[in-house]
Amino acid sequence: MNGYVHSVESFGTVDGPGLRFIVFVQGCGLRCAYCHNPDSWKMKDGKLTEISEIISELVKYKEFFDASGGGITVSGGEPLLQMEFVTELFKECKKHGIHTNIDTSGDLKFNTPERQQQLKELLAVTDMLMLDIKMFDAKKHKELTGKDNTHILEFGRLVSEAGVPMWIRRVLVPGLTDDEEDLENTAAYIKTLKTVEKIEVLPYHTMGEYKWKQLGYDYPLTGQLPPSDELVKHAEEILGKAI
Ligand code: SF4
Repeated sequence: MNGYVHSVESFGTVDGPGLRFIVFVQGCGLRCAYCHNPDSWKMKDGKLTEISEIISELVKYKEFFDASGGGITVSGGEPLLQMEFVTELFKECKKHGIHTNIDTSGDLKFNTPERQQQLKELLAVTDMLMLDIKMFDAKKHKELTGKDNTHILEFGRLVSEAGVPMWIRRVLVPGLTDDEEDLENTAAYIKTLKTVEKIEVLPYHTMGEYKWKQLGYDYPLTGQLPPSDELVKHAEEILGKAI
């Protein structure tokens, strides 16, 4: 089986525990104002890649992943858009004893029995999952990403119910995603989930801006500054109350 892949990174250190082989899949239905990978939005722009190609590369470094408590992370783009590909990839990883992690924005509706079954199969071979809660308020989420988040919050509940360990992540953009009430509401939501082990606040950075320009898109956050250390700490304190 193959899937549309944007790129791979052999030794990632920021997308999950330990050293990780990161597969960035292509295709995303959100349009986050701060996106640093706008080149991953259109699925067909990716390279069709066989699972066997990924596995043969991955197993070369298995001892490093094992020694560091790492494994594979499928990020994006949005991995849920190629759920069957990720499921088959993870099944192969499990045969090799490799720890599996999904980095997702949860942007898929699981409102049919078929989708629910697909999710069940995916989560059965998923050791952990990192979920972005970009904003709690549905209207603000739509302004930031182009879609509301009802289905994303529901996805978090489904993962929790399935007993899969989760990390929750929030990109912090001053004046945009640092609203105190929204952080408090996000924390209250996280508290309702049973499997959250860690919360990460990721400071906004401008490294993706040049890609928007290269692609001919108007960057919506021109002039936006990253958050101060104090602001990041404050957000960490609010969200940290949830676990
Ligand atoms: S979910 Fe990720 S890849 Fe998709 S638009 Fe947002 S930041 Fe970009």
